[in-house]
Amino acid sequence: MTQLLENKVCIITGGAGPRGIGKATARLFHEHGATVVIADLDAEKSREAAAEVAADRTMGVACDVTDKASCEAAVKAVMERYGRVDVLINNAGITQPLKTLEITPENYEQVTDVSLRGMLYMSQSVLPHMADQQGGAIVNTSSVSAQRGGGIFGGPHYSAAKAGMLGLAKAMAREYGQYNIRINSVTPGLIQTDITGGKLTDEMKTQILTGIPLNRLGDAQDVAKGFLFLASDLSSYTTGAVLDINGGMHMY
Ligand code: NDP
Repeated sequence: MTQLLENKVCIITGGAGPRGIGKATARLFHEHGATVVIADLDAEKSREAAAEVAADRTMGVACDVTDKASCEAAVKAVMERYGRVDVLINNAGITQPLKTLEITPENYEQVTDVSLRGMLYMSQSVLPHMADQQGGAIVNTSSVSAQRGGGIFGGPHYSAAKAGMLGLAKAMAREYGQYNIRINSVTPGLIQTDITGGKLTDEMKTQILTGIPLNRLGDAQDVAKGFLFLASDLSSYTTGAVLDINGGMHMY
């Protein structure tokens, strides 16, 4: 098999969810030769998740993406161990199924902090190293709800945060293209993970499928494959782009 990420050090935030997109991405990247760092809230959980992916070329590190010092400490630990960072997948995210009038200031901050502050702080922590290396790739996990508004599991504040990520990605892509750093985003649709798993009734599923041209829900591997494309040299001339990984949901 072609090793698309051989010798690359890749950090994946929020990668410790047992069935999540981050873990599937870590597995796929590792298969492609990468050294994979899982950066999630809890140190032990991150280390266990990394060990589950593989015994070698993996590392688990505690990282609260809403806390700049925590992001910097995580990236410092990676630099001390591996001396470089080639790929950042900004994957950490939380949802709250609230309607507009239900959103409290705390709800707003919780959701936007993880998506937007998290993306900014982690990017700020890796960009100087990538610039020194004259190369790198950052991929951001937005959502189809950024394009369509709403969604089953995310409220309007989730849509706003995920839409904000697309703007932030484009602005950073303009700024860092000169260093051969590519910054792109994905907009997953309804992906069966811990965020969604077990919460869909058959009736909800039937209704959702009428809005998905590919007529199935996504799985974590569908998103991981998109990350692989945007993290690797396969997308060498792509930056500031949005890859729709949602079975066509974005067209509705
Ligand atoms: P998971 O819940 O499996 O993964 C999210 C991970 O992020 C969890 O391990 C969570 O930890 C972690 N996390 C939460 N807050 C922080 C933080 N402050 N710092 C670091 N890590 C944190 O969900 P998914 O795999 O489904 O989601 C991954 C991404 O994909 C998210 O950004 C989500 O918004 C996005 N997405 C998902 C879709 C879906 O249908 N599943 C659709 C579109 C986008 P803990 O469990 O301890 O809270």
